[in-house]
Amino acid sequence: MEIITDVKTMRQKVAEARHDGKTVGLVPTMGYLHEGHLALIDAARTQTDVVVVSDFVNPMQFGPTEDYQVYPRDLDHDAKLCEEHGVEYVFAPTVEQMYPKDSRQVDVFVDVRNLDNNLCGRFRPGHFRGVVTVVSKLFNIVRPDKAFFGMKDIQQLRIIEEMVRDLNMDIDIVPVPTVREPSGLALSSRNTYLTKEEHEKAAAIYKSLQMAKQLIEEKGIRSVSEIVKACSTYLAEKGFKVQYFQIVDYDTLQLMQETKGKIIIATAVFLGKVRLIDNLVMEVQ
Ligand code: AMP
Repeated sequence: MEIITDVKTMRQKVAEARHDGKTVGLVPTMGYLHEGHLALIDAARTQTDVVVVSDFVNPMQFGPTEDYQVYPRDLDHDAKLCEEHGVEYVFAPTVEQMYPKDSRQVDVFVDVRNLDNNLCGRFRPGHFRGVVTVVSKLFNIVRPDKAFFGMKDIQQLRIIEEMVRDLNMDIDIVPVPTVREPSGLALSSRNTYLTKEEHEKAAAIYKSLQMAKQLIEEKGIRSVSEIVKACSTYLAEKGFKVQYFQIVDYDTLQLMQETKGKIIIATAVFLGKVRLIDNLVMEVQ
């Protein structure tokens, strides 16, 4: 396994692989790898010949008051896990390699509309512009046959699926289910910010999503406002500051009044200063 820090070498390595008739899988990450990322890597390992894991904390997707500077980083640990999971290349570029101009000064970027009106997009202006821009850059550098994204970040996954369609990118986007702790808490690099007590408490996030599912499936409730109210109240009572609890249509990511068809139930909460997200996808008859 090799760690590559510059764009030119990365391009050469994947060109060689492609020349040898090999397929290339890309797993974009911001590093500080955990079992969730490893599920993506393992999927890439079984579906493509050469696996590239990008490990880059992208400044462009962080808001001015967000945690870019303190976001956890540990390339040695990441490289070790990648090696154990059969990755060929860890692409860990410098910010200067990815953004020859300052990331806040770029004149040309990729952007999103409508799909970022709700969920995280509503509360993180410019976040998805940063995500789709950096993912486009990574796609241009690595030119993967397949790219693997976690359902943990469902809005990101849906936007990238639409991006490859809208921009005619010849890349298969492979969704990978969310990996959870036994308590139900979705694994996240940001979980490291939590105290032991907060960590235990955080299991209630997934419980709130399951509660919504039960209200729909078992109680037959269809009114989104009723479901949202019950679940937000539950989270608030548990001590979370609820940024949003929303139910949106899976395809359009738009809010709905009545649950119907394929839906995403999603929430973002603060536990102290830590912001955590989770979601559940279900089909309503
Ligand atoms: P991040 O490093 O947080 O940007 O995540 C990189 C990729 O890993 C994204 O596609 C995430 O959706 C995915 N991911 C993060 N946490 C999980 C998880 N618990 N289960 C599955 N995928 C995950």
